[in-house]
Amino acid sequence: MFDPSLKGHTAIRKRLLERLQGNKLSGSLLFTGPDGIGKRRVALELAQRELCFRRNACGVCEGCRPFKGDTLPTELPNLLRIAPEGKAGLIKIGMIREDDLVEGGVIRWVHQAPPPACHRWILVEDAHRLNGASANMLLKTLEEPPPGAHFLLITHRPEAMLATIRSRCERIPFTALRDEEAWEVAQVMGWGDSDLDRWIALSSGTLRYLDPALFSKAVDQLDAWLRLAEGESFGDAGDPLLPEKSATVAQSEQMAQCLELLLLLLSDVSRLREGRPLRLEPWRTRIESIAQSPLHLGKAQELAFGALRHLTRNPFAESLLLEIGLALAPG
Ligand SMILES: [Zn+2]
Repeated sequence: MFDPSLKGHTAIRKRLLERLQGNKLSGSLLFTGPDGIGKRRVALELAQRELCFRRNACGVCEGCRPFKGDTLPTELPNLLRIAPEGKAGLIKIGMIREDDLVEGGVIRWVHQAPPPACHRWILVEDAHRLNGASANMLLKTLEEPPPGAHFLLITHRPEAMLATIRSRCERIPFTALRDEEAWEVAQVMGWGDSDLDRWIALSSGTLRYLDPALFSKAVDQLDAWLRLAEGESFGDAGDPLLPEKSATVAQSEQMAQCLELLLLLLSDVSRLREGRPLRLEPWRTRIESIAQSPLHLGKAQELAFGALRHLTRNPFAESLLLEIGLALAPG
């Protein structure tokens, strides 16, 4: 789900705009920071401002209309958006070179003159998903984009990118939103107070659970981890943890989310033992009860961290989850 309103990141947005207006914005930028905090929205705002009749991304005028729907535009007069595709979730060379995205390919699109009073914005989403061939094809253009063209590479996993790509871009680091900022966006999207506590707890300053389906999946997954730690078998409790094969999100991304929830839970068990406030406060009673049993936390944590590091290479979800489930089991 796409969030039309933009909250937070005020300093970064102001700085980007000032540099753009002063003609000092670099042609290749790398937006980094946690998943789902609005990096893409900040990038889109730059393009939206230029098409807005009021020149301020008002969100109301006809020029802003393409940015407001649930579906984001792939191509606009001043914007081209490249995102991973297919089961493997990769940005393949065909999307850069050939005409399945835009006639003549991305490189040619970039070299055309920008529309009046506009720049050419090329958004590369999940830039860590560029495969080697596409990355190499982009390298030269990233090094010296034509005047008026700006590449905005967005990633929450910069360490998984080619070093050669990273070094050609200026890095703009984003930090998580404050809870109030994230919830403000959620309210605009129709979330009600009855969800407030759980939504804030799970989102950790991000907007990744704006979509109610994703939120309820995360709630189910956390429940599954808790049940495993409470002693239920993987066969009984593990189902919600398995990646959905038909989903549009790559399996490795689904796995990452599920493992991050486990790490959040495990770190809360440690916090509880140290008498610190819990992140997952709404689940306190259950966390208190599992914290009393001698969990093999270290082992489960180690497996989850290891898996997160090697996710793209190791998508064998089921056996891995089973192994972690066994490590969690009490006694
Ligand atoms: Zn507007």
